[in-house]
Amino acid sequence: MRPDVIVVGGGLMGCSVAYRLAKNDVRVLVLEKSVPGAEASSAAAGILGPSVESFRDAFARQLGRRSRELHAELADELDDLFGVDVGFRRCGVIKLVFDEADQVEVEAQATALEVNGVRCEEWTREDLLQEEPSCNPEVIGALHVAEDAQVEPKKLLSAVALGAEREGAVFRTGSTVRHIVVDGDRARGVQVDGELLEADRVVVAAGSWTTLIPGIRLDADTIYPVRGQMLATQTRPPIFRRIMFGAGGYVVTRPDGRVLCGSTEERVGFARGITFGGMAEVIGRARRIAPALANATVQDHWSSFRPGTPDGLPLVGETHVDRLLLASGHYRNGILLAPLTAELIAEAVTDKPSSREAEALSPRRFEETD
Ligand SMILES: Cc1cc2nc3c(=O)[nH]c(=O)nc-3n(C[C@H](O)[C@H](O)[C@H](O)COP(=O)(O)OP(=O)(O)OC[C@H]3O[C@@H](n4cnc5c(N)ncnc54)[C@H](O)[C@@H]3O)c2cc1C
Repeated sequence: MRPDVIVVGGGLMGCSVAYRLAKNDVRVLVLEKSVPGAEASSAAAGILGPSVESFRDAFARQLGRRSRELHAELADELDDLFGVDVGFRRCGVIKLVFDEADQVEVEAQATALEVNGVRCEEWTREDLLQEEPSCNPEVIGALHVAEDAQVEPKKLLSAVALGAEREGAVFRTGSTVRHIVVDGDRARGVQVDGELLEADRVVVAAGSWTTLIPGIRLDADTIYPVRGQMLATQTRPPIFRRIMFGAGGYVVTRPDGRVLCGSTEERVGFARGITFGGMAEVIGRARRIAPALANATVQDHWSSFRPGTPDGLPLVGETHVDRLLLASGHYRNGILLAPLTAELIAEAVTDKPSSREAEALSPRRFEETD
């Protein structure tokens, strides 16, 4: 059956869009060149932390906070419908202060958060060590934001993909979209494996690869890959209760004691791999946060590509080509922003009037290429 919407890419963005649209009785076909979750969405730490990640930009923080609350609802919905726990936990985040420069940054952050009504507390070294005893005793203070959360990206991705399929979306794996087929100024469908697949609309959610697909009239560098290397270990009892940011890195602890340490930010094109330098960086930062991790065994390591954009905001909505939409470019916050993105795409597909968010994230803010 001819789909209403073709979604290109089966990462968390593509699966979330497919689930949201399928729930609205839109016929969706998802085309994924590998398998759902093959790339960045499975590599992520799952931090839902707009208070730390976007504290300099009030608009980005507002988007993040809204999406974080959509995550809370989505987690309940997926649990009710499918009995899947996606690991949403409002564990809170802590930003550590090691020196004067950190102190200045944390104070600016606290002011920015308070202006927007986000509750945060500045902790003394003693407060911190009482709450999180495994933290480096060299800290001189910390900022605590209780409302931020975490989720387990792989569990979330499979639950959302399952939800999409249950609602009637069709997934085709191993299907690489070679180009977007455009008639005049209007998208007609996509070319995949020598076959033309037509739909009323095409939504490209191909992460770091989005602007490489011919037919999207945007410069290739409008979305570019930023490699992130991570590693994981196991601690017993779990080393921290909250997500710890500090020394340029972070440590995320799951309730079962699994610990994820991240991450590098490297402009190396699509070069895959784990490097000695990258691991040294990640390990050094994690040890600065928690010296006890020096004795932990490395259980896993991986890397993937965050889709970066020139202005740090994602590209969501219709492009210069009529009926060709993007849901991509979420950089460090794609897990966080997935539910909000799906909502904005659903609004665009049903021709709802544009909201302020939709205007600000429109791909049309970047110039059209031939
Ligand atoms: C190390 C690391 C840690 C991160 N931690 C966090 C975090 O804690 N919190 C957070 O919010 N975000 C985090 N992120 C960012 C987040 O992972 C990304 O922003 C998000 O996963 C992007 O999702 P996506 O679906 O757009 O892209 P992807 O997950 O990369 O999916 C894109 C999909 O498109 C497919 N595809 C590409 N080209 C084609 C084609 N031509 N035809 C068909 N299919 C195609 C790919 O195979 C892939 O499956 C992290 C990222 C990294 C790398």
